[in-house]
Amino acid sequence: MAPQTELNHTHSIQNVVENNVCVGCGACGVVTNGRIPVTIRPRGYYQADLTGASDADLAIGSRVCPFADESKNEDEVADLHYPDLPHDDRIGRYRSLFAGRIRDDAQIPYSSSGGLTSWTLIQLLDRGLIDGVIHVRDFDQPMFGYTVSTTREELLAGRKSKYYPATFDEALRSIRGDSGRYAFVGIPCAIKAARHVAAEDPVLRDQIAFFIGIVCGHLKTSAYAESFAWQLGIEPDRLDTVDFRIKDPALTSRQYSFGARAAGSTEWSQAQTLSLVGGSWGHAVFQLNACNYCDDVFAETADVVFGDAWLSKYEIDWRGTNVVLTRNETIDQILREGAATGAIVKDELDPDAVAKTQAGNYRHRRDGLAVRLADDEKTARWAPRKRVAPGYDHVTPERVKLIRNRREISEVSQAAFEDAKARNDLQVYMNAIQPLIAAYQNETKLSLTTRVRNKLQRETWKLVGRFTKR
Ligand SMILES: Cc1cc2nc3c(=O)[nH]c(=O)nc-3n(C[C@H](O)[C@H](O)[C@H](O)COP(=O)(O)OP(=O)(O)OC[C@H]3O[C@@H](n4cnc5c(N)ncnc54)[C@H](O)[C@@H]3O)c2cc1C
Ligand code: SF4
Ligand code: SF4
Repeated sequence: MAPQTELNHTHSIQNVVENNVCVGCGACGVVTNGRIPVTIRPRGYYQADLTGASDADLAIGSRVCPFADESKNEDEVADLHYPDLPHDDRIGRYRSLFAGRIRDDAQIPYSSSGGLTSWTLIQLLDRGLIDGVIHVRDFDQPMFGYTVSTTREELLAGRKSKYYPATFDEALRSIRGDSGRYAFVGIPCAIKAARHVAAEDPVLRDQIAFFIGIVCGHLKTSAYAESFAWQLGIEPDRLDTVDFRIKDPALTSRQYSFGARAAGSTEWSQAQTLSLVGGSWGHAVFQLNACNYCDDVFAETADVVFGDAWLSKYEIDWRGTNVVLTRNETIDQILREGAATGAIVKDELDPDAVAKTQAGNYRHRRDGLAVRLADDEKTARWAPRKRVAPGYDHVTPERVKLIRNRREISEVSQAAFEDAKARNDLQVYMNAIQPLIAAYQNETKLSLTTRVRNKLQRETWKLVGRFTKR
């Protein structure tokens, strides 16, 4: 066999980028000091540009890329950091599991869910355990991005979920070597990628003291925010900023609204997210292709992870309730103290209840992933190595069809919205996407029995809530 030369040596990061499986995290940019630039593309998502990368850059890039076969998977990383914790196939390793929220009702509207992510970050800062937080918040251009916050005020200003693309390349490089200690906040793939960066870079390893995960259904391109704002009458070139999670005390926590503000205006336009075209997460409009290959729901490599407790018991409470899974003793202790002082309320959960809060996510990320991998295998399309085996046997033919429809909606939405922007006509997008969503909706219609059962569950919990107000 001929010796492998630099020219014929392929690294899987090349497959990742060539096959549009790059999630734009920025890890390859950090470890190559920017020699692999991660830039925003016309359809509104970040991608790495490998054109100027040397073989050494590609090699280290592949070791940190969350979708490259050379990098460690979630189980391997978690085994290194939390070897003694129990493991569950769905949620990974765990220390404590609960549902909860901050008790301060004056502050809860400013957080997406139960507010415990920001509360925990502020605790870490106030106790001197960190000097700052690397998280996604408001930005000049684009409207949201990874930024370093070093004060309580900045952390409070950065609250709420940003369903928006972000890359941590510049933010991580900006703190490297400044001798500060930081908490890094991210969705599961960003946490895994940042863990890989820390494994390669001893300076950043010492600086990133805590990895704070956020449960993730999938990531949206910037067109998600733009398409909603446009439906509210604000064209993409006039859009200043958006709020993805506006709460209403008269409704349930799931019935949140989307708000948008035009440049130069102080007025907000808003509508219930579910009333907007593409407003259901199940439809997966503008989902990144990378998310078709993700099997990590509970940020399995993070020290703690926060999500929404989507169980009828909590859904009916407009304030929002977090599902929380800890893996780090210090954070666990902080949250326990919060409960003891009454700053937070919490109900213990078991692994089944925790997994149940993300039932739709498991259908998409485990059952759906197996189907997509099997489809890719049949069409000889490259796919990253995953912890889920390809196959169709575990789902009905109807679900296989739905999984494929969903993939089509993601692809068509991106292309149609690009076209709509080029022609300055929202209807171009609507005409392409509405029939696909209607067909999908028809297939997923819940049976009458299921709808009645869900309604009964919600009404029961409303009654219980009235008598046990907290
Ligand atoms: C893309 C995305 C998809 C999600 N999908 C789901 C889901 O399917 N199921 C579910 O239960 N929960 C999901 N979440 C999490 C949920 O929306 C809340 O963010 C989470 O419950 C924390 O709420 P909180 O009230 O505790 O946080 P808040 O007090 O509102 O604070 C949020 C903190 O997270 C930071 N942040 C926000 N967005 C990002 C981001 N994109 N990257 C890094 N940091 C960020 C903010 O800067 C802030 O520090 C998703 C979040 C994102 C960003
Ligand atoms: S490391 Fe991140 S930005 Fe780089 S190729 Fe992989 S997914 Fe893309
Ligand atoms: S679904 Fe997975 S790959 Fe996609 S953004 Fe969320 S964590 Fe990353």
